[in-house]
Amino acid sequence: MKKSAIIIGGGLGGLFTGAILSKEGLDVTVVEKNTTVGGGLQTFVRFGESFDTGMHVIGGMQEGGNIRKICKYLGILDKIHIKDVDADCIDRLYFAEDKKEYKIAKGRKNFVESLASYFPDQKDNLTRYVDAMFRITEELDLFYLRPTKNDIFMHSEDFIKSADAFIAQYITDERLQHIVAYMNPLYSGRGDMTPAFVHAIISVLYINGPSRFAGGSGLFAEVLKNLIIDNGGKVYVNEAVETIVTEDKNIKSIVTAKGRELVADYYISAIHPCTMLKMLDNPKVFPKSYRTRLEEVPNSYSAFTLNIKLKPNTFKYFNYTAYYMSKYNEIWNFGRTDNQWPLGFLYMTPPEIEQGEYSTKLIVTAPMAWEYVKKWENTTVGHRGEEYEAWKKECCEKLLDMMEEVHPGIRDCIDKINTASPLTIRDYYGVKEGGMCGFSKDYKNIILSQVPVVTKIPNLLLTGQCNNLHGFCGVPLTAIVTSEVILGMNYVINKINEL
Ligand SMILES: Cc1cc2nc3c(=O)[nH]c(=O)nc-3n(C[C@H](O)[C@H](O)[C@H](O)COP(=O)(O)OP(=O)(O)OC[C@H]3O[C@@H](n4cnc5c(N)ncnc54)[C@H](O)[C@@H]3O)c2cc1C
Repeated sequence: MKKSAIIIGGGLGGLFTGAILSKEGLDVTVVEKNTTVGGGLQTFVRFGESFDTGMHVIGGMQEGGNIRKICKYLGILDKIHIKDVDADCIDRLYFAEDKKEYKIAKGRKNFVESLASYFPDQKDNLTRYVDAMFRITEELDLFYLRPTKNDIFMHSEDFIKSADAFIAQYITDERLQHIVAYMNPLYSGRGDMTPAFVHAIISVLYINGPSRFAGGSGLFAEVLKNLIIDNGGKVYVNEAVETIVTEDKNIKSIVTAKGRELVADYYISAIHPCTMLKMLDNPKVFPKSYRTRLEEVPNSYSAFTLNIKLKPNTFKYFNYTAYYMSKYNEIWNFGRTDNQWPLGFLYMTPPEIEQGEYSTKLIVTAPMAWEYVKKWENTTVGHRGEEYEAWKKECCEKLLDMMEEVHPGIRDCIDKINTASPLTIRDYYGVKEGGMCGFSKDYKNIILSQVPVVTKIPNLLLTGQCNNLHGFCGVPLTAIVTSEVILGMNYVINKINEL
C-alpha cells in the first residue's frame, strides 16, 4: 500500500524532501505557514518589484555539480532559470582599511592565480591550501553523491580544526589569511567557532562556480511545488502547523491553525527543531536531555538587508557578488557584538531572465547578531514601535554611507528601500533568532550541533538546515538523507548515479 508523509514547512528542505518522496511513490502532503512556499527561496513583492528573501548566491548548479544532478534526477532541469556569475570575477572584494580591491576568478587553478596576482610569494601556499580544502570535501561521500559505506570512518585532523587555524597552517601572509576567509558571511562563520570542514565545503562549492536564480528564487520553489502536485501530492499554504499530536511515543497526527487534522505514516519536520519541539502536545516524548541539548545549540548569526528598488537606467547590472569589508583583521568577527556594526556586507544586482545593461534592484546583506534586536523580540511584524523603525532607518543610512564609498552617487539611483532585520527573518521563516544558517557549528564541540535526521520517535524525521549544512547545497543533500531513511540507504544516490 502507498505510504504517506506529511512535511511540516514548505521551505527549501521541505520542498526537496517532498519532491524526492513524491517522485518515489509516496503520498506527500506539505504544510506551509506562509502564503507562498519557499522559505529561504521565497520571493516577495514591494513597490511593484519582486525581491528574493535570501537565496542570492547558489552552489552546485554548474555542469557536473551535485545539486544540478539532483535537479536532473527530479526532471526539473529544463524548467529552471539559472545564471552563472562571471568566470573571471565570481567575487569582487573591497577593503575600506586600505581601499584595495581584489577580483577572484572561478575554478581551482584560476582561484589560486587570481589571488597570487596580489600575493606572488604565496602562490605555492595558495595551491597547497586549495588542495587541502578539496581533500577535506573528498571525506564527504554525500557532497559528491557517492553511496554511503557502512564502515566506521574517521575524519582527518584538518577536517575538525578551527577554520582560521586551518588557513594559517597553509598561508603565511597574515593579510592573505584574512582575505581567503572572505566568504564566511555565507556560512555565518566565526573565527572562534567555525570548523575547517564548513569553510572548505562552502569555499570549494563557490570556487567551482557560483550561480544565481534568474527572475527570482521563487520560480524555483514553484517548480518544486508543482512537481509534488504533479506526482499526486498536496501542498497547503497559509496554514501553519500548530500542534503535533503524540500517542504512545509516536506521532498520531498534526493539527493546523485552520483546525485541519492530518494523518500519515511518516511526519517530517522541515522547520527549526526548537520550533518543532514547541508544537508537540507532549514534549516529554523526547528525553529532557535531547530537548535541553537542542535549546542549547548556539544559532548562527542573522542579517540586516536592504532591498532597493533602483530608478530606471541609473545603476549598471554586475554579474558577480561584491563584498565591502572594513578591516582585514575583523573578517571573522561578523557575529560579534563587541565591535562596530556593520563590519561589512555583501551586495549584488539579482539577474532577470532577460537581463539588460541596467539593474532594477540592488540587495545589500549585512551580517548582524541577534543581540542587536533582542530588545524587540516580543514584537510582531508591523507592530514593533517607533524606536525600532528609527533604529532600522539608522542602520540603513550607515549601510548607504558605506555604499557611497564604493559607488559614489548611489543615493541618487535609489527609488525606494525596504529593510529587513533579524526579527523579519525570524518571523517569516520561523527560525530561532533569525539565524541565517540554522545551528552554528563549533569545532570545539562538533557533536553538539550534529542533529541526526532520525529521532527517538520512530515516525518523526527531521530535515533542513539544522541537520547538516545550510543553504542551497547543504539542505537538498540532507533531503536525500531524510528520504533514504524511508526509501532505504543509498536508494536515491544510486538512482542519481544511474542517470
Ligand atoms: C538573509 C539570508 C540570506 C541567505 N542567503 C543565502 C544564499 O545566498 N545562498 C544560500 O545557499 N543560502 C542562503 N541563505 C540560507 C538559506 O536560506 C537557508 O539555509 C535555507 O533556506 C534553509 O532551508 P530550510 O528548509 O531549513 O528552512 P527554510 O527555507 O527557512 O524553510 C522553513 C519553512 O518552514 C515554514 N514554517 C515554519 N514554521 C512553520 C509552521 N509552524 N507550520 C508550517 N510551516 C512552517 C517557514 O515559513 C518556511 O517556509 C540565506 C539565509 C538568509 C536568512
